[in-house]
Amino acid sequence: MNKLTELNGLSISDLELDQEGKLTVTFDLPVSQKSTHYAVSKQGTRVLDVYDHEDLERLAKQLFARVKKHVMEEPDEDMDSVNCDQCKEATCCREYNVLVTNEDIDQLRGALSRVDFAKKYTDPAVDWTGEFKFQLKSNQDKVGDKCVFLKRDRTGRMRCSVYEQRPQICRDFDMAICDELDSLN
Ligand code: SF4
Ligand code: SF4
Repeated sequence: MNKLTELNGLSISDLELDQEGKLTVTFDLPVSQKSTHYAVSKQGTRVLDVYDHEDLERLAKQLFARVKKHVMEEPDEDMDSVNCDQCKEATCCREYNVLVTNEDIDQLRGALSRVDFAKKYTDPAVDWTGEFKFQLKSNQDKVGDKCVFLKRDRTGRMRCSVYEQRPQICRDFDMAICDELDSLN
């Protein structure tokens, strides 16, 4: 076959994996190669459920564990310069899975036993690394989903009601990725 008319192989151009295991794959469809300059002329999309594929589930967990390790090793230097004082709705405490360890639960549970705290304030964790068993429950307000411990203070701002005892994952949250900050400045 003449090289210039070979089909381009199918190549994956984008992968997106959400916390529920939905893997969206965008790929360049094989097209007839008429020039030496490759151009994407057609793309396709497939959506896979990672939990339906044992190999993908295992690899995704490994990838997340490795990525997490690198993220922890290379914290963002801008984190300390973020000022949340003017923030009203605290979107950082909404729509995330707030994963908690037994140590976090011990900090938060007060007089409750671990088991009672877990029943009252946690759900089973959605966690790719498999490290966490629980995440904090969420509930709804007029803005949307929020962490069970996010409450409105006397000034009308949403604030963490367990700030001093908040879980490690909240302490590690990278505020540099917060979109809210642009509207506050
Ligand atoms: S990190 Fe962002 S959303 Fe969270 S309190 Fe600060 S400004 Fe608000
Ligand atoms: S525990 Fe506090 S800081 Fe963490 S998500 Fe909930 S309200 Fe936000």
